[in-house]
Amino acid sequence: MRFRAPIPFEPSHPDALAMYCSDGRFTHAVEALLAELGYPRLDTLTVPGGPAVLSIATASLGTFDVVRNALSFLVTGHAIAHVVLIAHDSCGYYKQRFPYESAEAMHRRQVGDLEAASKWIRGEHRKVEVTKFFARRDEHVEFERIE
Ligand SMILES: [Zn+2]
Repeated sequence: MRFRAPIPFEPSHPDALAMYCSDGRFTHAVEALLAELGYPRLDTLTVPGGPAVLSIATASLGTFDVVRNALSFLVTGHAIAHVVLIAHDSCGYYKQRFPYESAEAMHRRQVGDLEAASKWIRGEHRKVEVTKFFARRDEHVEFERIE
């Protein structure tokens, strides 16, 4: 079988990177968010838990190291200028890793991880702009910017 994608290949790298959970139910919504932010093309770094794995408070050490290296590789090698970090409600990664207390406690933990991830990226890559979002879903996905 052969398949030729109908979209022409664009040789230049996008300057935005979205880091989010592997949960494919969010993929199209994340692409729409990035387009809304002015980034019609994007690099992606998707792992279960998304930005959670850049937080030492949450990630296992092995994952933490691999994902930090992957992110730095993309930022440096592809000249990424904007990183968009996205966490989402009811994330299976968090459910598996932590005993469930309440939706509020889980949200606090996830926002804390977004902040930790953002802090690490800004410390390592000073010229990179980092924005953070929390995604909630009903019939659609809605993104709330975390300041
Ligand atoms: Zn998830």
